[in-house]
Amino acid sequence: MKKLIVPTVVVLLMLSGCNMEKSQIMNPFLSEYNTPFGVPPFDIIKNDHFVPAFEEGIRQQEAEINTIVSNQDAPTFENTIAAFDLSGEILRKAGGVFYKLRSAETSDEIDSIARVLVPITSAHQSNMMLNTELFNRVRAVYENQEAMDLSPEEARVLKKIYRRFEKGGANLDESGKSRIRKIDEQLSMLSMQFGNNILAETNSYQLLIDDETDLAGLPESVRSAASDAATKAGHSGSWLFTLHKPSWIPFLQYSENRQLREDIYTAMFMRSNHGNEYDNRNIIKEILALRIERAKLLGYESHSEYMLTDRMAKEPGNVYNLLERIWSPALDKAKVEAAMMQEMIDREDGDFELQTWDWWYYAEKIRKEKYDLNEEEVRTYFSLATVKEGLFNVVNNLYGLTFELREDLPAYHEEVVAYEVKEKDGSPLGILYMDFHPRPGKKSGAWSTSIRQAHLMDGQHISPVHLIVMNFTRPTGGKPALLSFDETLTFFHEFGHALHSMLSRCDYLTTSGTSVAWDFVELPSQIMENWAAHPDVLATYAKHYESGEMIPVELINKLEAASKFNQGFVTVEYVAASMLDMDFHALTDADGIDINNFEKSSMERIGLIEEIIPRYRSTYFQHIFSGGYSAGYYSYIWAEVLDKDAFNAFLETSLYDQKTATAFRENILEMGGSAEEMEMYMKFRGKEPTIEPLLKGRGLQ
Ligand SMILES: [Zn+2]
Repeated sequence: MKKLIVPTVVVLLMLSGCNMEKSQIMNPFLSEYNTPFGVPPFDIIKNDHFVPAFEEGIRQQEAEINTIVSNQDAPTFENTIAAFDLSGEILRKAGGVFYKLRSAETSDEIDSIARVLVPITSAHQSNMMLNTELFNRVRAVYENQEAMDLSPEEARVLKKIYRRFEKGGANLDESGKSRIRKIDEQLSMLSMQFGNNILAETNSYQLLIDDETDLAGLPESVRSAASDAATKAGHSGSWLFTLHKPSWIPFLQYSENRQLREDIYTAMFMRSNHGNEYDNRNIIKEILALRIERAKLLGYESHSEYMLTDRMAKEPGNVYNLLERIWSPALDKAKVEAAMMQEMIDREDGDFELQTWDWWYYAEKIRKEKYDLNEEEVRTYFSLATVKEGLFNVVNNLYGLTFELREDLPAYHEEVVAYEVKEKDGSPLGILYMDFHPRPGKKSGAWSTSIRQAHLMDGQHISPVHLIVMNFTRPTGGKPALLSFDETLTFFHEFGHALHSMLSRCDYLTTSGTSVAWDFVELPSQIMENWAAHPDVLATYAKHYESGEMIPVELINKLEAASKFNQGFVTVEYVAASMLDMDFHALTDADGIDINNFEKSSMERIGLIEEIIPRYRSTYFQHIFSGGYSAGYYSYIWAEVLDKDAFNAFLETSLYDQKTATAFRENILEMGGSAEEMEMYMKFRGKEPTIEPLLKGRGLQ
């Protein structure tokens, strides 16, 4: 049956309006989940449940806010801040499912529901943030806190909530408030549209190869994945490559066909930049103008200044300082790498100049020549099962945690697995869902997201439910999923986020788990990558998927040596994107801006070489235009300064030193956002972090 998108919306609206009673009775979001650990009953949740649940959730939270503001007692932490922190349970439950599906398992129907939900939830958020009576009570507690004898976490919750109101415009007059409301509404629609456009452009491109000679250079696993993809798309007998990373990256690395490399890479970096209905340039302009207007209304010069006040970095100048200190050694290194590649091209009588679409190919060849490191060989030691076991062991060695597969728990897709995470003494900590492979309808990349945060309710600790989503190479041609070393690092990384969520000992939602400053949130994740890559750890978990033999020492040495290879490129493309983000958001006026020219001059200013493009070009820079990373893409490297310095604490003692592990767990992982980030770090490390371990780790010093 053909289904049109518009009627679906109408039907949903009617359902939510007229048929409320029936859908409420059946709606799982509106009653307590009758499942082990109270995980969402994914098996009975239907798309029809979302709109009524969100609507009821909004009504519920409005009623809770009314109770807070109509309280005749003087405002206290309990009756105002704690009550506000806990309010909105139905919305949290419905959001804890809906937004996960929207990223990991979307469909036209989910998209059309999102179009209904985005404006109503954004309006609800604004209503709360601009509720004068509510803010007056929050402010009263904030200003009288000295007399209240708050715990450190409570003081932190209070500060965060007060700042959220202030940054949301609560201190403005009525016309200012209504303008902020309008801006936030428009921004949420625009960022959604931005992401949809990229998804549409990503999915619309196909490189379909019929002639086997065009596969020259591609290893068997890449061919077989492309053949499977073609068959699935109804082109049996051909090979299909797409703009999803596990498809285009190996193609660029191995394909000898320079023209096809250019085709697919150009398609990738021109996404949403074609002047068609999916072009994102005008959306960026609108987003920038609205962000500047909002910042100015709230008393800031620029969006970056507005965003950074509550981060570890505090102000844009500190970010530029760090990026610049890394930029010049990285650029020097990248130039050396480019020269090596050009030399190889010349040696092979290539008679052309190295271009962006050649970099991956020659990097792979030089890697092979210099380190004789064959990624396909490497993969054989990193089957998904092997890596998972290795990861579980590392976490067990550090914190004593164990993991039990729970096939009885409902999940939103048959490929999603659930694990019960347990303390050393066997007591349950929470549930972790893992979703490993790409599917149509799943965004690209990898992410970690909370379905339910740990917190205290009626004196009871509510355990966390967490989800990590990846896009790892699928099992193909009868082989299990064999991960690249990069994918292995990604797995450890996302798992680190999950630990931050699992181990939270915070009482409040505002501070729990990963509710920390953006430039701190990647510390718990990135530090895990250090164990994944350490030679002594590799020697314990990387084993051949068929023979079970441990990875040979020579291969470990090669991996170690190769880890410094191409770091000029990797650092440059990342820092370039970070600079682009900072430059966009340092603007105090976006009038008449031409997005492509702005990007070009921003890159010229820092001296980016032509052979490299920023990791994300403007029109598909989702992190900053449809994710939470605006004026914050730098935070990965900011956090890497922290993680390399923190890992040094283990290197100075031992890899699983219990004293250091306990200090990291107690001062960082369990603390969530309940203290100032630098304060937590200093407590763990006993001193401020230094940049040298990062430069050394990347081979830039
Ligand atoms: Zn991360």
